[in-house]
Amino acid sequence: MSRGEFNLIDAYFLKRGSERRDIVLGIGDDCALVQAPADHEIAVTTDTMVAGVHFDEKTPARAIGHKIAAVNLSDLAAMGAEPSWLSLAITLPQQDDEWLAEFAAGLHEICRYYQCSLIGGDTTRGPLSVTITAQGLIPKGRALLRSGAKAGDWIYVSDKLGDAGLALAAEQDQIGLDDRHYQAVLERLHYPRPQVALGLALRGIASAAIDISDGLLADLRHILKASQVGAKLTLDELPLSLALTESLTADAALTTALTAGDDYELCFTVPDERQGMLETALLHTAIKPVCIGRITAASEQVELWFEEKPWDTPEASGFDHFKDSNR
Ligand code: ADP
Ligand code: MG
Repeated sequence: MSRGEFNLIDAYFLKRGSERRDIVLGIGDDCALVQAPADHEIAVTTDTMVAGVHFDEKTPARAIGHKIAAVNLSDLAAMGAEPSWLSLAITLPQQDDEWLAEFAAGLHEICRYYQCSLIGGDTTRGPLSVTITAQGLIPKGRALLRSGAKAGDWIYVSDKLGDAGLALAAEQDQIGLDDRHYQAVLERLHYPRPQVALGLALRGIASAAIDISDGLLADLRHILKASQVGAKLTLDELPLSLALTESLTADAALTTALTAGDDYELCFTVPDERQGMLETALLHTAIKPVCIGRITAASEQVELWFEEKPWDTPEASGFDHFKDSNR
């Protein structure tokens, strides 16, 4: 490693977030050493963000630092894992101190808030991209999988959908938004808040869970496929922001909420007999998930209803990096 690389790691990534007591050895040696508590499993996930694909030159560096950590924590939340340790692989075109300070601030804010620590990484020169591998702790056998949904289970989403997609459309000049709405939805696109507390509360209650990164329909379909079940959704119940409903027609608002990505809310299923447990678990919290439908026995079939009439399933659902039109 060069002197410059050492200074960079030292200045921006060493001991800036929270330092957990289960870290035996942090940044600085060939590997980090961590101590997992007995009777726990470790959930491991990785996400990458590439300049020109996941963000552009208009995206603030602090948002990139926040979001690359947040999207990883969102995967941990979807499994019911408690975030613990992060590794960062960063590729930079040059050493831009102003950019790095902002990027690190966004990343360390997340670490402090969710009490997880950066324990290592790799720093290289090249086209800008950032990758985080996040690890989280789960008591043995209590992870929330995609495969546990059963016919009759209730389907929930953690909060409002479609705002990040609306912000992206505005960023790309596909629609015009009133400034008040634009600021609100841009905040949701740039600074998603992973539903970690909800994920933890759902252990032992939810039968299946997933985080919504590619759009509700696309991600719900992953649960349906893994569980070999179907779903019936009542779109009248979909939680939508004022920004969404005031900026788009009713149809476009629903389509956006169903298909746009980047919201990082959770979608989960709860057996009928555990609905009371869910209410009790969340009673004294600010977390108010919304029931939007029910799991059916019709394998991988999605039925949509709106105002008591069937509603056509929208075409576009989920972003695929390797689809011909995206290459
Ligand atoms: P090695 O050459 O042995 O792989 P490096 O020189 O790449 O080690 O890194 C030195 C130390 O700094 C290691 O502990 C590594 O985990 C850490 N590190 C490197 N880059 C980063 C980064 N971007 N964020 C956090 N830690 C990093
Ligand atoms: Mg290295």
